[in-house]
Amino acid sequence: MQNAAILTVDDDPSVSRSVARDLRRRYGDRYRVIRAESGSTALDALREIKLRGEQVAVLLADYRMPGMNGIEFLEAAMDVFPLARRVLLTAYADTDAAINAINIVDLDHYLLKPWNPPEEKLYPVLDALLDAWLTTPAVTMPETKVVGHRWSARSFAVRDFLARNLVPYRWLRADEAEGARLLAAAGLGEADVPVVITTDGKALARPTETDLAAHVGMATTPASDLYDLAVIGGGPAGLGAAVYGASEGLRTLLVEQRATGGQAGQSSRIENYLGFPDGVSGAQLTDRARRQAQKFNAEMLTTREVVGLERQDPVTLLRFSDDTAVAAHTVVLATGVSYRLLDAPGLADLTGRGVFYGSAAIEAPNCSGEEIYIVGGANSAGQGAVYFSHFARKVHILIRGDDLTRSMSRYLIDQIEGIANIEVHPNTEVVGGEGRDHLERLTLCDRRSGRVAAVPTSWLFVFIGAEPRTDWLGDLVARDGNGFVLTGSDLLADGLRPAGWAPSRDPYHLESSMPGVFVAGDVRAGSVKRVASAVGEGAMAVSLVHRYLEGR
Ligand SMILES: Cc1cc2nc3c(=O)[nH]c(=O)nc-3n(C[C@H](O)[C@H](O)[C@H](O)COP(=O)(O)OP(=O)(O)OC[C@H]3O[C@@H](n4cnc5c(N)ncnc54)[C@H](O)[C@@H]3O)c2cc1C
Repeated sequence: MQNAAILTVDDDPSVSRSVARDLRRRYGDRYRVIRAESGSTALDALREIKLRGEQVAVLLADYRMPGMNGIEFLEAAMDVFPLARRVLLTAYADTDAAINAINIVDLDHYLLKPWNPPEEKLYPVLDALLDAWLTTPAVTMPETKVVGHRWSARSFAVRDFLARNLVPYRWLRADEAEGARLLAAAGLGEADVPVVITTDGKALARPTETDLAAHVGMATTPASDLYDLAVIGGGPAGLGAAVYGASEGLRTLLVEQRATGGQAGQSSRIENYLGFPDGVSGAQLTDRARRQAQKFNAEMLTTREVVGLERQDPVTLLRFSDDTAVAAHTVVLATGVSYRLLDAPGLADLTGRGVFYGSAAIEAPNCSGEEIYIVGGANSAGQGAVYFSHFARKVHILIRGDDLTRSMSRYLIDQIEGIANIEVHPNTEVVGGEGRDHLERLTLCDRRSGRVAAVPTSWLFVFIGAEPRTDWLGDLVARDGNGFVLTGSDLLADGLRPAGWAPSRDPYHLESSMPGVFVAGDVRAGSVKRVASAVGEGAMAVSLVHRYLEGR
């Protein structure tokens, strides 16, 4: 890449010069270091760089500047170079402002002035940010394009997959001029969509998720046959286990069937995770966790579903759906839960064509000016409603109960009550859906009166109770009646160890009935269904993994 820029802005000329000097000393051979003494001149410089088609890797802005402060500058700079990493330079007294900026401008770091010696306080931070910037897909790759039909479940699935894996792409409709031109150039037609044109110009017609993953640079096959720790599931619990396992020197493999982030990755705003007073989007939080795990050399596979476990002492084999396998001394099962399907006539056929499970955030802009329906009364539904209220003309929340108080956190109920275009319909159920190529009408039933009414809409987002998808485990590990995996003391019936249990000790706290297989997060029987507890259990599972390995 032709020398990308590192831009620093500080209104104090001597500080500005000294930052630039430190930066040039370390990065001058690979990056162009540009300095400015006000937010507005720095913005002019950014626009010029943009016009020349060049890149900016990192922005460092002083917080206290007259006219435009550092946060305002970084906010404006995001419009020009959204992928540049952002650092705020602050005095000790301004750390509150810096913490706020973490949320306002998704700040990557704040540095306290002075930062001497730079070898200790400045360079390690910038080294990590530059590494992260260089691996941002859009930086190293020009653009992935998806050509498809507006109301096609397969086109939606491809876009959703790319979005959840944070692969930037451009969406083109097959019935519009540019989409049709691309299809013709690839020698394909409308019958072949969705078509993905990769950044190196390959056209993939109706690709599987594994094809797609491999073509956009995600690993899909393990690099080794044997690991110390294999983590199944890339939600917060799995990512937590991968970060702690890899950082503590275990050869760690994380296997994810779709996209790392799990349910949390679909949350538009997590407001109760420690350390983020203004909330954080689930995608941001889990992307950071993914990068953190990779920094510690955890290996990550996507689009690989584990369909069986087999004990072959001293290891456990993880079987994949394509009949291949990988071995690990220990396993953390962190497969979470998935939404239950809404069982009403007509809806199954319309899934992905107006009926969506979870927030399907990529559809939000398409709901502009329309009326949408959300089913569910828990926090996930509430967050979805708040998020969609920024796009839709009206958001209807349908709940079976009398009100939200028993199922939703107070902070979300308060938010919803303050938003004029959200209406909650208590005691209401969806009993049917219709439409030709996409959803056009829903049938709703008032549970008290039994009265049924049809409403016109093209959008239904379903957030109803979640269930563990653990059938593949069969009798391998003990589960409760709802499919959640039992662990620790829950496995002891009247003080007796589970049938077939070989070790001369009781199961450890998060250990399943299969020795060396630990369970973390939502899939565990009795777990608290929260991001923080999932992360905590992932970390705790790793400490038990060490105990298991030492005690063998
Ligand atoms: C929209 C939404 C909003 C939410 N908001 C909040 C909030 O604000 N605060 C909060 O604390 N909690 C929130 N939650 C709940 C929180 O996200 C979950 O408690 C948390 O994600 C659980 O983490 P987990 O790692 O146990 O499971 P999950 O997040 O469910 O992740 C499990 C992962 O395992 C993968 N997987 C499953 N089976 C296999 C297999 N066989 N092979 C390979 N991979 C597999 C799945 O694809 C998935 O990625 C929200 C949930 C949703 C859906």
